[in-house]
Amino acid sequence: AADAAMYRAKDQGRNNFQFYTNDLTEQAFEHLSMQTKIRQALDSEEFIPYFQPQINAQNGKLVGLEVLVRWKNKDGDIIPPSDFIPIAEKTGLIVQLDRQVMRKAIEHYTQWKKLGVIEGRLSLNLAVKQVQQKDFFTFIYNLLSKMQCEGSWLELELTESDIMTNLEEMSQKMNQLRELGIKISIDDFGTGYSSLSYLKKLPVRKLKIDRSFIRDLPDDEDDAVITKTIISMAENLGLEVIAEGVETVEQREFLLQNGCYQLQGFLYSKPLNATETLAYLQKL
Ligand code: C2E
Ligand code: MG
Ligand code: MG
Ligand code: MG
Repeated sequence: AADAAMYRAKDQGRNNFQFYTNDLTEQAFEHLSMQTKIRQALDSEEFIPYFQPQINAQNGKLVGLEVLVRWKNKDGDIIPPSDFIPIAEKTGLIVQLDRQVMRKAIEHYTQWKKLGVIEGRLSLNLAVKQVQQKDFFTFIYNLLSKMQCEGSWLELELTESDIMTNLEEMSQKMNQLRELGIKISIDDFGTGYSSLSYLKKLPVRKLKIDRSFIRDLPDDEDDAVITKTIISMAENLGLEVIAEGVETVEQREFLLQNGCYQLQGFLYSKPLNATETLAYLQKL
């Protein structure tokens, strides 16, 4: 990497940028330049929501739309979250980023409500840093009032590790959200290592089985056992369950046979931009 950077520096005729040769410094430099780019992109509102349908396969109805952020830069390139979320989280810019995406997503959603084309919730992924902001509840409350959006139209996806960063604090926040009617689900379920007893104590309503367990179904026996176990555990605890990353008919059949009816994945639809989502909803 240092060599490549050196090349770039030379290409640009800047031979005496000594720090390029130092790997660590180069990393810090790239980190800093990404941070600057994210800041600028926030100012010019380049972070936009995409939406992925969640379907109840028993009746074909839409259970929800998951909001997935994309960065659409000035050239029109679409940049995936893995390229910027980690740095946005490290630098704290994620707070502003999530709020920008939330505001835009709810704007679209309430529009679709007015048109009468949508059933099901809007499901948001928020960074744990977001939820831990002192003014988080006030922010959500004001946003909902301003947009005339009901809490019961929303769902919040949190991971086990997010919840475990500070169980006490998160539990309190989740209870506040529940009072607004917001549903809480556990994203990437099965990949954490927390004790299951917390599920009973928290206002969690739904488990999302992680994509890594779905990918090799139905052939991989371990994944088959894990998936069945999660489904029956959800059932016994009175929780809803949804599978993410469903790509094939065989995966769907396995999930339906084992009692998981809420499905999300490329088999139904990839994440869509707002225009495509409206077209999708109108065809449902
Ligand atoms: P996630 O919440 O677990 O989202 C599921 C990811 O799986 C999404 O990737 C989605 O596009 C992808 N996916 C859905 N169906 C399929 C499928 O059938 N096959 C395959 N191979 N992939 C599928 P994406 O959009 O790149 O998002 C990655 C992660 O970034 C998300 O994981 C979430 O943790 C985070 N993220 C996304 N949007 C936001 C946001 O607005 N705020 C925050 N804080 N995090 C976000
Ligand atoms: Mg999610
Ligand atoms: Mg997930
Ligand atoms: Mg995730």
